[in-house]
Amino acid sequence: MPEELAIAFIYAFGVSTPHLFPDYSFGEEEEYMQGLRLGTFYGFEIRIDLSWLVIFFLVLWTLTVGLFPTNYPGLSNTTYLGMGIVATLLFFASLLAHELSHSFVARAKGIPVEGITLFLFGGVSRTRMDAETPGDEFQIAIIGPLTSVVLAAFFGLIWYLGKTAGWSVVVTGIAFYLASINLALAIFNMLPGLPLDGGRVLRSLLWKYTGSQRKATQIASIGGQWLAYLVIALGFWQLFGSALLSGLWFILIGWFLHNAAEISYEEVLLRTSLQGVRAREIMTPYPETVNAEMTLQELVDKYFLTRRYHSFPVTEDSHPIGIITLNQVKDVPREEWIYRTVKDIMIPCSNGVTAFPEEQMSQVLSKMQESGVRRVLVTQNGSLKGIITANDVAIWLQRQREFGKQMG
Ligand SMILES: [Zn+2]
Repeated sequence: MPEELAIAFIYAFGVSTPHLFPDYSFGEEEEYMQGLRLGTFYGFEIRIDLSWLVIFFLVLWTLTVGLFPTNYPGLSNTTYLGMGIVATLLFFASLLAHELSHSFVARAKGIPVEGITLFLFGGVSRTRMDAETPGDEFQIAIIGPLTSVVLAAFFGLIWYLGKTAGWSVVVTGIAFYLASINLALAIFNMLPGLPLDGGRVLRSLLWKYTGSQRKATQIASIGGQWLAYLVIALGFWQLFGSALLSGLWFILIGWFLHNAAEISYEEVLLRTSLQGVRAREIMTPYPETVNAEMTLQELVDKYFLTRRYHSFPVTEDSHPIGIITLNQVKDVPREEWIYRTVKDIMIPCSNGVTAFPEEQMSQVLSKMQESGVRRVLVTQNGSLKGIITANDVAIWLQRQREFGKQMG
């Protein structure tokens, strides 16, 4: 059943990678993994990306007109549709359970987790930083496949009980599908390449063994790229075997895997190449500032519309007191712009958005991640010395590449 296999693969991802600067080369203000907010669960915000709707109907369609009628002939179309809907919903619930298990363990290890986004290729736990020890990373990674195995066993048990007690195939058919898809998720996720859970498990073991997170990531990400090539090859093989849909899916998934494997490595490369570098070396010195009492209307007219920056340091009596970003202004209804001030909505310095000129960049990067605005003000004795945005970091890295000093 190649199509079902493809659908299993589509959702095989528990990509719990913290995206440090997923977009640092594509401009600084792109919101990553937004989408519709479904609600919150134990403090984790659950979102679905619009691309996910495509998958929902694809899975539903595959089950309703393909898998169930083939395996359990003789039922009515309405029954197949009902089975399809229930199975699809439980499939996504299983996927969510897998992601939530990562999130719960990550939170227990002191890593801030904003929530989970379901998108075209699976689920992503949105974390703001990486595990600090190999042991933590191992536990955060392994819990996902374990959860899927437990779910597979649970649905397998229902299938087995139902079969021996002579329940309708409507119930046992759904249970059998869910048992196999959860098992497939667990197995695929344990393949040893980033960004899959198995790749993270591999990385944590190598990290512990070699003592180098960078080396471990490099090897695990090469594993991920080879896996990606394999999946793409499988896609072409299917394509020529005239399984058009699953062939295309495999190729798409392989392409996604390949990119994700590269990103994982680049993130660690970023950290290691910034080792020993100070904030003052990266910052844009003496940036243009805006006054705290200014209205949002004035801010938009005089600054955002006429400058290319997406954020400004906010000052009061010429002391820096916070940062204002374009996105924050966009969140305020336009009719309120004429009376609300910059100070009302800015992110105050007390939220960890400042650094000292001599501060290590590794520490500054953590602040940029945790504050959620991906920029910090560099201050000294209450006066503003500079600003560091994701763009500044990207430009610095670019220079290093051009002059060939670093990056090995
Ligand atoms: Zn996972």
